[in-house]
Amino acid sequence: MDKGIGSWVATRAFLSGDRVALVQGERRLTYADLDGRTDQLARALRALGVRRGDRVAGLLLNSVAFLETMLATAKLGAVFVPMNVRLAPPEVSYLLADSGADTFVYSAPLAPVARAALTGDGVRIRSRLLVGGEVEDGEFDYEQVLAGGEPRPVDSDVDRRDLSCLMYTSGTTGRPKGAMLTHDNHLWNVVNSLSFGRGLRESDVTVTVAPMFHIGGLGVHTLPLLYVGGTNVVLPSFDPIRTLEVMSRERATVQFMVPAMWAALMSVPGFDGYDLSSLELAVSGGAPCPLPVIDFFQGKGLPFQEGFGMTETAPLVSVLDADHVKEKAGSIGRAVFHVQARIVDDTDRNQPADEVGELVLRGPNVFAGYWGLPEATAEAFRGGWFHTGDLGRMDAEGFITLVDRKKDMIISGGENVYPIEVEQVLYRHDAIREVAVVGVPDDRWGETPVAVVALQDGAGTTAEELIAYARERLAHFKCPTRVEFVPELPRNATGKVLKTVLRQQHGGGEHAVLR
Ligand code: ATP
Ligand code: MG
Repeated sequence: MDKGIGSWVATRAFLSGDRVALVQGERRLTYADLDGRTDQLARALRALGVRRGDRVAGLLLNSVAFLETMLATAKLGAVFVPMNVRLAPPEVSYLLADSGADTFVYSAPLAPVARAALTGDGVRIRSRLLVGGEVEDGEFDYEQVLAGGEPRPVDSDVDRRDLSCLMYTSGTTGRPKGAMLTHDNHLWNVVNSLSFGRGLRESDVTVTVAPMFHIGGLGVHTLPLLYVGGTNVVLPSFDPIRTLEVMSRERATVQFMVPAMWAALMSVPGFDGYDLSSLELAVSGGAPCPLPVIDFFQGKGLPFQEGFGMTETAPLVSVLDADHVKEKAGSIGRAVFHVQARIVDDTDRNQPADEVGELVLRGPNVFAGYWGLPEATAEAFRGGWFHTGDLGRMDAEGFITLVDRKKDMIISGGENVYPIEVEQVLYRHDAIREVAVVGVPDDRWGETPVAVVALQDGAGTTAEELIAYARERLAHFKCPTRVEFVPELPRNATGKVLKTVLRQQHGGGEHAVLR
């Protein structure tokens, strides 16, 4: 019987047990191995007191242990809480307390942070499992605990509507919120992934290098491939050269990464020497992809596509399929099969075609609400549709073009300015490596756009030149009135630019405002 994501691997073990499910370094686990080990871990966790509905937190690098913990937890009907591996101890404490986790699994390199987080307010961890490395007092060795469990399926009354994980949002616009994702949400995300373009197949291989604690790393290819019986090659950390080597050695057929990762691959010297001919689907998502990055990969003849997703939607919302990549360039495509999308005004009425409004969604992949935040949940679901906080427009054929996040939109002299549009223009300037445009308070205009720029190595330009460059290509009200040069932009663990930080840092400033 289908009992949620834990049962996917059992079914796969039954149907194609000899196929390779996971590769990590020299280790290769078949579906039969993975099913047996997750049965063992589930039994061991139950022996430690984990029950249906309990939260099991993970501070885990991309690894076999990450997926085993998630699947074993799922088999028990408990809730996996993956945490961002770049957090500092007080931030980990906050998530442990907020989720009410009582079991905590962590990778050896992260053990100092995990241990330091235990003393935080409200943290009530009962059992701790260390993956690799030397255990200290009060910790269990993950492999030993697992070996103590029998490789027999556990009895449990998991329901597909149960929570399978609490995924914290990226925290780009504020404190991360725990999105409650059910087994069904993941299932429908898989169905959506199979319903467009080439779909996904048993013969597919992906290199999982986007962080698995982020829904992009987990939901775009990793979980769907476990469902169809494909292979995930996991890399614990991102290194562009290593990623290219492994993609070419393992003959990756499908690959998801965030734009910052694709951009890093692009600058690897000798890029053309890596054989990526096996690649049939290359997806960027999680943040807007700079146009030069899209041009580069499409120029190399790679099947490069942009997808749009969110933690709250497990994550797939829309994809621009290969047939429309050229014709609808700049769009994030049409909503995937079981997602309904509308663009609405501030009173939740439909906007006409091509008019900007907020993207709202409905579908069986849409989450069950924010953990412990009933008001934020009610606000997000007003009128029965999930309000994404993203602004965009939809053409008559249903192709969506995002313009920006509602919170990042600038209103200057009564005109709406969408920073992403300005950034895309500036990205075309040769001297610019990274750019973010934010709105800062301005006496005359209410708000004014400021460009924060990191230059290419050795490049030289001036604020005046960049402003003039923008003015030749954009309406004046959209152009930055000030340029701040920085060595690099502040980003979160998934490579998203932290505009809240930029607004704080560059909100005042003493530079003269042009115009
Ligand atoms: P938080 O909700 O905590 O502020 P976050 O919104 O960045 O963080 P995620 O759920 O990881 O957390 O990201 C979803 C958001 O990422 C979307 O709402 C959208 O703003 C942005 N995004 C995702 N894919 C794309 C894309 N292809 N182009 C532009 N933006 C994208
Ligand atoms: Mg968000």
